[in-house]
Amino acid sequence: MSLMLDKLRRRLKRRGLDALLVSQPENRRYLSGFTAADHGISESAGVLLVTAAGPSFLLTDGRYRLQAEQEAAGFEIRVYPRGLFPLLRRLFNSLALERLAFESDYLLHSVFVGLARLATEKGIELVPLTGLVEELRQIKSAAELALIEQAVRLNEQVFAEVYGQLRPGLSEREVAALIEETMRRRGAEGPSFPTIVAAGPNGAMPHAVPTERLLAPGEPIIIDMGLKVGGYCSDMTRTVVLGQPDGQTLAMIRLVRQAQLAGLQALRPGVAGRHVDQVARRVIEEAGHGDHFGHSLGHGVGLNVHEGPSLSYRNGKLLRPGMVLTVEPGVYLPGWGGVRLENMAVVTEAGCRLLNRDTTFLDA
Ligand code: ZN
Ligand code: ZN
Repeated sequence: MSLMLDKLRRRLKRRGLDALLVSQPENRRYLSGFTAADHGISESAGVLLVTAAGPSFLLTDGRYRLQAEQEAAGFEIRVYPRGLFPLLRRLFNSLALERLAFESDYLLHSVFVGLARLATEKGIELVPLTGLVEELRQIKSAAELALIEQAVRLNEQVFAEVYGQLRPGLSEREVAALIEETMRRRGAEGPSFPTIVAAGPNGAMPHAVPTERLLAPGEPIIIDMGLKVGGYCSDMTRTVVLGQPDGQTLAMIRLVRQAQLAGLQALRPGVAGRHVDQVARRVIEEAGHGDHFGHSLGHGVGLNVHEGPSLSYRNGKLLRPGMVLTVEPGVYLPGWGGVRLENMAVVTEAGCRLLNRDTTFLDA
């Protein structure tokens, strides 16, 4: 049985829970190894029923039987020919559960209603739970870290290849398509999120969607891209300029770079996520651009491209070795554009280790 599953079962016992119904797809994959992807929350490839003391089950439909048997070692595979609830009823009859937890931030209300009806019928108390598996996922194993590093490396190779082809006259959409094609050709499972290419004033929106705008010389172009290897994500942002950047662009890039370096220096075990955000943010505030950095400094990366922990004023929890995070300060000026620089790092015993081989702007 997997180490992660063992840990989860101990936590369930400690909370007096007999079982957890796992519906969040990355949690399902993390615990079971079952790699099937959901096509949205209403087209689930299956759920796990993890018991604290007995066997654990992967409940799926007939299309996934073979894959489930091959991948989910340690789980009993149960196929539902007539939907989830008749199968759950049979399992509840044999398991004698008293307190069943469910993932309250990832369950359709219609499924919850069916589950509640069944629980009432069987005298089971339903307990809403958030973040239990996600918390385990924050600390990466050596095997997970190896996949993340592969995803980071491949992402850099894709960037380098596409960077060599950038020229004025290409549209943001063409560049984004080229990036995603190159990812697949070089062996990525696919992008870990829709690629962002934002040129000139479009870069003032941190989550810009690529448009037909053509790349022009001299303006900052934000490229935010990530891909998946073995289910694990990378996430990286570069701000590039075709031709000579003007003085303002250079000053902005230097400022954001300094904030990023300050953040990386502050990233270590035993400090709160919010502390790292504050350290990097101060650099930008002192330059008078505090109002132009409207998002948090960074986020965890793993099976999801955005996961815990966050480097944000909201996170007072202490960082621990094995956490993988982005450090991505930005400055966004309406009408002008934006600069964002994003690298990934893993928290170590002594501080952190940068996962990107980033040599841009070292002299900034
Ligand atoms: Zn990003
Ligand atoms: Zn990011």
